[in-house]
Amino acid sequence: MLPNECKGIWTIGEVRNGEINPVSYELLAWGRKLADKLEIELSSIILGNGIKEELTELFHFGADVVYAVDHAKLEHFLPDVHARIYEALVKEYKPEIIIASATTYGRTVMPILAAKLGTGLTADCTELDVDVRERILLQTRPAIGGNVMATIKTPAHRPQMSTVRPRAKKPLTIDNSRNGKIILKSYPPEFYKSKYRWISFEKDESVASPIQESDVIVAGGKGMKDGGNFKMLYDLAKKLNGAVGASRAAVDMGWIPYSHQVGLSGKTLSPRFYMAVGISGAVQHIAGMSSSEVVVAINKDPDAAIFKVSDFGIVGDALEILPVLIKKLSNEVNENG
Ligand SMILES: Cc1cc2nc3c(=O)[nH]c(=O)nc-3n(C[C@H](O)[C@H](O)[C@H](O)COP(=O)(O)OP(=O)(O)OC[C@H]3O[C@@H](n4cnc5c(N)ncnc54)[C@H](O)[C@@H]3O)c2cc1C
Repeated sequence: MLPNECKGIWTIGEVRNGEINPVSYELLAWGRKLADKLEIELSSIILGNGIKEELTELFHFGADVVYAVDHAKLEHFLPDVHARIYEALVKEYKPEIIIASATTYGRTVMPILAAKLGTGLTADCTELDVDVRERILLQTRPAIGGNVMATIKTPAHRPQMSTVRPRAKKPLTIDNSRNGKIILKSYPPEFYKSKYRWISFEKDESVASPIQESDVIVAGGKGMKDGGNFKMLYDLAKKLNGAVGASRAAVDMGWIPYSHQVGLSGKTLSPRFYMAVGISGAVQHIAGMSSSEVVVAINKDPDAAIFKVSDFGIVGDALEILPVLIKKLSNEVNENG
């Protein structure tokens, strides 16, 4: 499709276990910023079974329009069926930008869709912006082994398609007064034929980690000096009702399992509070925590890059500071019962 034929921003919503998955709302936060800049409509596209009741939630989180396909055959994710429906929708309504989450769903269906539409796809973006004059999506992601951040454009083809890391952005504040237009689509039976057969869903517990569920993260890096010192991080995290994260260097040292790694090749988080202890602040680490609400860093090097993304910084030896913090918090708990 050509640039001048297309208008509007679409986000690809996800349904899990019959419910709209929160990544759908995160995507609307990404899309809203771009749609406001371009002064165009933001839509959420959602495929599932028995989803009609929940669709208005998408307006409360920023959508102007919802395109939905509600069909029993969409109960489970079959990539060829979903891609076929998206292709039909895109060819009919011609959006200029499509954003999906870099979840297993997005990583599977978006490349198929890009190939079907003959357009580009930038995977795993950490930032999106638009050149308003040229109407070009600026898709930023780490490149060359994570050593540089590259901004990629799709100047000649439409739609411009990206996936963004889940949890890299928080959903917008819910606004129950927002409303919009629902377009319910249906397709003939041959659209639902698949070469795949859904057997079952099995969660990969090895990659599950409490850090993705927690609003408070206390993360340690190589500056912790030894795996045994991580006990202090667990103690502090417990006092703060949080979980323990880590830099890749700490994981590589075998001090903590990979499921706790934060960053480019680990988890992306946006907790309310992130404490980086003995972490230098390499770009690959920051890619996983930069959207935290409040960042506190403890580092003995006053010039450490982590201080550039911190709201509060403590310059000093973490191994001396952590016991003081833990003791102070214990005293407060005792005093306040
Ligand atoms: C493709 C690729 C992907 C990557 N993915 C990730 C990723 O997902 N996550 C990630 O974290 N990294 C990742 N990295 C690695 C990244 O580049 C850094 O090497 C890593 O983040 C460094 O970890 P660190 O900050 O713990 O260690 P260092 O860089 O060694 O920093 C240690 C810090 O501790 C401080 N320190 C030392 N002693 C003390 C003390 N007693 N008290 C207080 N502070 C002290 C030092 O001043 C220093 O700032 C990736 C790299 C590549 C190339």
